[in-house]
Amino acid sequence: MSECEVLIGFGSNLGDRRVLINQALQALSDLSATSLKKLSSLYETAPVGYLEQGAFLNGAVLVKSSLAASELLAQLLAIENSMGRVRKERWGPRTIDLDILFYGNEIIDEVDLVVPHLEIAERIFVLEPLNEIVPARQHPQLGGTISELLHKYQLSHPEEVPCEIVAVPPEVALDEVRDGIFYRYSQS
Ligand code: ADP
Ligand code: MG
Repeated sequence: MSECEVLIGFGSNLGDRRVLINQALQALSDLSATSLKKLSSLYETAPVGYLEQGAFLNGAVLVKSSLAASELLAQLLAIENSMGRVRKERWGPRTIDLDILFYGNEIIDEVDLVVPHLEIAERIFVLEPLNEIVPARQHPQLGGTISELLHKYQLSHPEEVPCEIVAVPPEVALDEVRDGIFYRYSQS
């Protein structure tokens, strides 16, 4: 099967968030037929929706994978479950959330998988990390690039404070990272 460029968004707001994100990245890079290519900074944001919970750390990673989208989703949910995520309220606290933001240019509309992810253009904590790693990527449904969508968002939310960068990715090229080397954000 051919390789596809996939963007995965991740977030955590429960427990040692940075450690959990590092574990999730390790688990992603351990998936078969999948390799990490480019990692965003880590952004901190106040919770959306259910407000009685801690702040989130969010980021995005570009991966190349030959897994089918449905198979990749199953693997992401398995990683979430193995990391102790318990689903209670939607938008509630979670140890780790892994979402498929883009799967190549494909448009998928299934009961359990919608790609591009529905909330890309409405979430600053998704747009900012995406803009860092794939600013010129076209949204196959909305038209416009990520940087244009971010600009639009900022114009329509003039009051909103931008997310704060709390960690930058390591400088080594991900291609140079060989199997078994733990790839992580360091403590800032
Ligand atoms: P959210 O990420 O919206 O806060 P959850 O992580 O609890 O919500 O996801 C609930 C369900 O969303 C998953 O079980 C999955 O089937 C579905 N889903 C639909 N589209 C996607 C996508 N693009 N990426 C990840 N999950 C998705
Ligand atoms: Mg999710």
